[in-house]
Amino acid sequence: MDHKSFRHWARHAADWSADYLESVDEKPVRAQTKPGEIEAQLPAAPPEKGEDMARLFEDVDRLLMPGMTHWQHPRFFAYFPANSSPPSVIAEYLTAAMAAQCMLWQTSPAGTELETVTLSWLRQMLGLPTSFTGVIQDSASSATLAAILTGREKALGFRGNQDGLAAHPPVRVYCSAQAHSSIDKAIWIAGIGQANLVKVVGTPDSVDFDAEALERHIQVDREAGRLPAVVIGTIGSTSIGAMDDLRAIGEVARRHDLYFHVDAAWAGSALICEEHRHLIDGIDLADSFVFNPHKWLLTNFDCTAHFVRDPKALVKTLGIQPDYLKTEGEAGINYSEWSIPLGRRFRALKLWFVIRSYGVDALCDIIRNHVRMAEDLARKIKAHPDFELTTKPSLSLLTFRYAPAGASDLDDLNTRLLQAINDDGRIYLTQTRYRGDYVIRFQVGQLYTTDRDIDLAWTVIEELSTALAT
Ligand code: PLP
Repeated sequence: MDHKSFRHWARHAADWSADYLESVDEKPVRAQTKPGEIEAQLPAAPPEKGEDMARLFEDVDRLLMPGMTHWQHPRFFAYFPANSSPPSVIAEYLTAAMAAQCMLWQTSPAGTELETVTLSWLRQMLGLPTSFTGVIQDSASSATLAAILTGREKALGFRGNQDGLAAHPPVRVYCSAQAHSSIDKAIWIAGIGQANLVKVVGTPDSVDFDAEALERHIQVDREAGRLPAVVIGTIGSTSIGAMDDLRAIGEVARRHDLYFHVDAAWAGSALICEEHRHLIDGIDLADSFVFNPHKWLLTNFDCTAHFVRDPKALVKTLGIQPDYLKTEGEAGINYSEWSIPLGRRFRALKLWFVIRSYGVDALCDIIRNHVRMAEDLARKIKAHPDFELTTKPSLSLLTFRYAPAGASDLDDLNTRLLQAINDDGRIYLTQTRYRGDYVIRFQVGQLYTTDRDIDLAWTVIEELSTALAT
């Protein structure tokens, strides 16, 4: 493709994108296709000769669009949001055009230094301690893995990478039963093993991360010759938005000199609004903190903000300098030494575009509005005799279930209700379990969601639950 054609098709892509976003609310939110349906329409072998771009665009519309679930749809209330916004998309376009690798300062000085600046902005926006320094990771999963590895190395006197774990007592990591599965996965990858991840709960049906129980587990482990290393607190659990008491568990972690990491992947964005800052009381005790602007801060995936108190410990854990990566002369930060992958996209650009084009006040208003909409919906659910608000809104996430009088198997009823809702296509919701019961999750976090969308969502839920009962 020559530069002239590139100009033409790039403009076409811009028009396509604007048309898409303008009309996305007319499409079913969740793809209504069956497994294999899209694949069956695609050629099994690659073309020998290059094809026309016009045909490629035609095939996107004809073959792929029916199989897309629309994450930017205003009535996407499933999972957590994966926000995007026009300034972020535009920056992603520039990033793709330059396609720079931001692994070392020298391979992208502007990319590196913009990363330092935007993360400092984010730190100020969230009210995080000034002792924190930030780096952009590809995902919260990677940031948490980096945190667990750092905590493991700290506990092993930075010998684990060299010796392997067999030479040392079992390393122990503690989190709540609500903690995200990325922690389990990080434990596997870090060689620590699932058996050494302690999911601390107080009473049998409590979902809280109980500080006294944590203290007891640490003591028992020490006495048994195991090596307590890392405590992970969660702000905004994926299931129900549960919030750990960071101060209480942070104090235990400090007392025992354990590495204390905080996962606020979704909820972290809400901290830009001052009224939510109380949620991280105790953050001064943390060694690291992660949140995803790619969830709820209008920035395209991937963009994870990872803050650390001691970058030296992180670099001591992940930094590696083979000859072919050494650079001559003066150098700034080499962020690949702070990350799991070597290659790094220029992610700071989209964050810079988002923060500058919206400004902190407007970003805050968007989040406030989402929280208010969730509270409005919660009131309606609570007032309805056939519905239970199983967990009240934690920021903009609530759970509920349909529980009409006399219904016997509520798990089955709600499974069928959720299926009917998602087959209907006007809204998209997902499920979880709360205290053993199947419940339906509802989160508000889309850029284009309005009160009308919330009203429509409630109409759909009421309509389809009534149809199920008759
Ligand atoms: N932590 C929490 C609380 C989450 O909700 C999620 C994803 O939803 C993650 C971690 C993992 O995020 P990522 O997809 O960026 O790895």
